[in-house]
Amino acid sequence: MRLLPRLFLSHALVVVLTVLALLVLAELLAPTFIQHHVDQMVNLIGPAGRSLRGDLSRGMRNTFTGALLLSAAFALVVAFITAFLASQRLVRTIRQLSAGSQAIAAGEYQKRLPDHGTDELAELARNFNRMAEVLAQVEASRVALITNVAHELRTPLTALQGYAEALNDGVMPANHAATSILRETRAMERLTSDLSLVSRVEAGRIELHLQDLDVSTVLTAAEERFQPLAERRDITLKIERPSTKTLVHADQERTAQVLANLVSNALNYSPAGSTVMLSALPEGGEVAILVRDQGPGLDEEQRERIFERFYRVDASRSRLGGGTGVGLTIARGLARAMGGDVQVTSEPNTGSVFRFSLPIPERSRTSLRRTSSA
Ligand code: ADP
Repeated sequence: MRLLPRLFLSHALVVVLTVLALLVLAELLAPTFIQHHVDQMVNLIGPAGRSLRGDLSRGMRNTFTGALLLSAAFALVVAFITAFLASQRLVRTIRQLSAGSQAIAAGEYQKRLPDHGTDELAELARNFNRMAEVLAQVEASRVALITNVAHELRTPLTALQGYAEALNDGVMPANHAATSILRETRAMERLTSDLSLVSRVEAGRIELHLQDLDVSTVLTAAEERFQPLAERRDITLKIERPSTKTLVHADQERTAQVLANLVSNALNYSPAGSTVMLSALPEGGEVAILVRDQGPGLDEEQRERIFERFYRVDASRSRLGGGTGVGLTIARGLARAMGGDVQVTSEPNTGSVFRFSLPIPERSRTSLRRTSSA
């Protein structure tokens, strides 16, 4: 049976049973009340009233039963109409939900349901609309990802095709062509491994080995790794270690990876003769590692967008530096997976500060709470 008749019948059954109970109860109780009333009237009338006792009782009972049946019939009609309207409203929302989910299943992610009201049905409709919105975003991001990947792969592939043709035509020495082909295939390899990491980070499928790390050791490792690049770029790499032993609770390899993305960006986008500074400071329940540069800086829109996949302020410059355009997406995703974050403060022409925060170990947090409450 369809939902509307089922709901209506269940409402109707409740109404009929209630009215029946009311009728039975009224018919059971009425004689006692009527009798009592008639006795009072007979006493008021006096001896002449005694002969009227039977007529009075019958008359009152008939009037009472007639009025009761008429009211019950009216109440039944009103209750049936209300039950029908209430069932119809419920069924209408369910039908809308069903049509909406069918539309979404068919790929119409713009479908929305009317969600006025404060009851559970309106809440259901609002949740449905929110789900449709998220699905629309996921779909848009999927399409954008495919477009971007195709675009990113086209650049090295076109270059590879050019080198192969030049080799074929004998216009390029073989060793020269081999070096160029190797460079392009390495770029493709880097892109595919970055993409695989991005998808794992976004799906929350990153295995983390969280442990207590000394921030000074983390900074020293980054300094050793990037000093040669800084020298090649004629940039001063300065490290400011915390004055006391400062610990974070994080994955060593992933922390180094986030920091590497931030430091290599700072070195890649800053001019020769400038300084890149690495420092760390405890702030409440976390430690902020700051990567400060004197590069071109970023305006408001760029600050928002640099964490998007494949967004580049200057595509040609970024590609020359070997960037795949997903370094900051990975950095922020990894930092968040470890309970931290990556944020940027920057203005055009004044350099940038990337703030990589990580949680401090639980023990230190407890003792910090104790110190602050003391
Ligand atoms: P890429 O591989 O292109 O470096 P990222 O995701 O690491 O990709 O960075 C995205 C973009 O953000 C870069 O292309 C660059 O335009 C901008 N950017 C990143 N770091 C800096 C920085 N320190 N100074 C200025 N611009 C930066």
